Amino acid sequence: MSKITQFSTIGALMAGYFHGEAPLSAFCSHRAFGLGCSAGISGELTIHDGRVHEATAGETLHCLSPEVEIPFVQVTDFTPQQEHVVMSITHENVEEQLGRFIRADNIFLAVSISGHFDQLVLRRPYRADGSSRSVNDVAAAQKVDRHEAIEGRLIGFWTPELFGRVSVPGFHFHFLDEASVVSGHVLEFSAPEALLSFEEKTTIEIVNPSSKAFKALEIDVGALDEMINRIEK
Ligand SMILES: [Zn+2]
Repeated sequence: MSKITQFSTIGALMAGYFHGEAPLSAFCSHRAFGLGCSAGISGELTIHDGRVHEATAGETLHCLSPEVEIPFVQVTDFTPQQEHVVMSITHENVEEQLGRFIRADNIFLAVSISGHFDQLVLRRPYRADGSSRSVNDVAAAQKVDRHEAIEGRLIGFWTPELFGRVSVPGFHFHFLDEASVVSGHVLEFSAPEALLSFEEKTTIEIVNPSSKAFKALEIDVGALDEMINRIEK
């Protein structure tokens, strides 16, 4: 399937619309590949073979059941069109490395990078405790962990700049290690050798929230762009 399906948008999420609203079961088939976040931005979700792993600071990695309602998810069926063994791939040169194989400025890609990472920096939020918190509160209090020598896979998407309020522009990667115990939003990575796989996605299907609260939400679009770049990239 050449389609990315998502619930809500990164724009709505960053505008503070992050309570759980859509059940995972509506989006995650048994083959689902993708990412998201859980209600209240309590965890970063990494979705692999339909299993939804929630990474929350201070908690062991666990799977969410299909009826759990989430504020944002982006998934697809991943069937790589191209696979390349690449050397010395890092968060700093990944765009250049990908550019050797495909011109991606205006297209969506599902992307996987798997291998042995010698450096990996992951971010996880703390669980919402019931008190109201803003996106900035969540961002300020996240836990950043540095891993060395870890086997696993980056799972994510490349989004063209043109769609930067629908999804995080550029690369957005989450990580899942081989043993399914380490996961989170990827800030930095480095692998001496890895398998870079990707698939072009020509269709993006967005299920927009439909609640009264969403209809009443006021979004400062200018401030939003700044926030998406600062918090999600
Ligand atoms: Zn993320």
